[in-house]
Amino acid sequence: MSFDILHIRHDFPILDVTVHDKQLIYFDNAATTHKPRQVVDRIVAYYKKENCNIHRGVHYLSTMATGAYENARKTVKDFINAEHPHEVIFTKGATEAINLVAQTFGRKNIHQGDEIILSEMEHHSNLVPWQMLAEQKGAVLKVIPVDEQGELEVQHLKSMITHRTKLVALAHVSNVLGTINPVHRVITLAHEQGIPVLLDGAQAVPHLEVDVKELNCDFYAFSAHKLYGPMGVGVLYGKEKYLEEMPPYQGGGEMVDQVTFQKTTYNKLPYKFEAGTPNVSGVLGFEAALKYILDLDLKKIHAYERELLDYTTLELLKMDAVKIFGNAENKTAVISYNIGKIHPYDAGTIYDKLGIAVRTGHHCAQPLIDRFGVPGMIRASLGLYNTIEEIDRFIEATRQVRRMLA
Ligand code: PLP
Repeated sequence: MSFDILHIRHDFPILDVTVHDKQLIYFDNAATTHKPRQVVDRIVAYYKKENCNIHRGVHYLSTMATGAYENARKTVKDFINAEHPHEVIFTKGATEAINLVAQTFGRKNIHQGDEIILSEMEHHSNLVPWQMLAEQKGAVLKVIPVDEQGELEVQHLKSMITHRTKLVALAHVSNVLGTINPVHRVITLAHEQGIPVLLDGAQAVPHLEVDVKELNCDFYAFSAHKLYGPMGVGVLYGKEKYLEEMPPYQGGGEMVDQVTFQKTTYNKLPYKFEAGTPNVSGVLGFEAALKYILDLDLKKIHAYERELLDYTTLELLKMDAVKIFGNAENKTAVISYNIGKIHPYDAGTIYDKLGIAVRTGHHCAQPLIDRFGVPGMIRASLGLYNTIEEIDRFIEATRQVRRMLA
């Protein structure tokens, strides 16, 4: 092992929980990751010693909390290598970040007959907001297909782009297949026609080093809770030139400059998009999570996860009945599969009785599940605290599921 896994597991008290008298094995990290004590401690410390509303007071606590919050913005900016801190907008998650773009950039720039290009592997969060916008505006959604291996059929993109295409919105990494999409190619093709690209990075940031400048994407959305941070916090990165031109998302305090009954002028970036009291404790907890994984070293985490992925895949494929969906050459530690004709929900119930948390169902990507012609899939998604021993117990449980239900 390239890092001290036992030491790391110590940081995650929830891993000691027992489920049906068995020690928990948590393989549902794509849904949410657990939080190290450093994150929990940061949130507690904020409420014990720093709690205050930000940007609005000249007194000590308010100034401290404002400074901490804005520092966290800088930490996120460095983490994704954005050009400016004000290109980092705090939201309540990837979902809100994408809705923000749909209802600001989208409402302003997408009109009757215009086209938005998505892929067949989108999470509902990067599908429904565009569908809602398309309904409001009479726009059209176009969908890049996915092949049997779970790879994006990116060769179709060039011919899909027309003079009516106004945006490409694509998952960086699929939450079901683990596929790492060829986003550089997509961005180059789109930019050749002057079309901006939004990447849904919810499943990418936990497993890849993301550099928005190097990617040259125009928008990037992700959530803290899938990155060992708290729930209720996320990020929209946007290039300054787009954010400046976009109208505000929600109205309220903080996003304004001058207000009269006749007219309101809006605050500068990033505050224009952060109406109301933000989730300060969540943002500080998120910063603690980023510091935690940076301390562990992202390269080491990703290499370790690759080991876990390869081992799990190899062991699962030793069972004839197991069919894995998503065998892309470039993928993250997410494995969706079925065991013969066993219904994923039935399998999930047995896994649970054995103390193992896997996800079952359509994984908020119903069109993708339909594309593979199955009622659902079982998904094992791994994180930095999982171990080979846990995978061995999981493989034995998979055999047991098959014995009991086949
Ligand atoms: N996009 C992808 C690919 C996801 O996997 C998820 C969550 O599972 C989301 C978006 C939505 O994230 P959140 O619910 O944190 O807003």
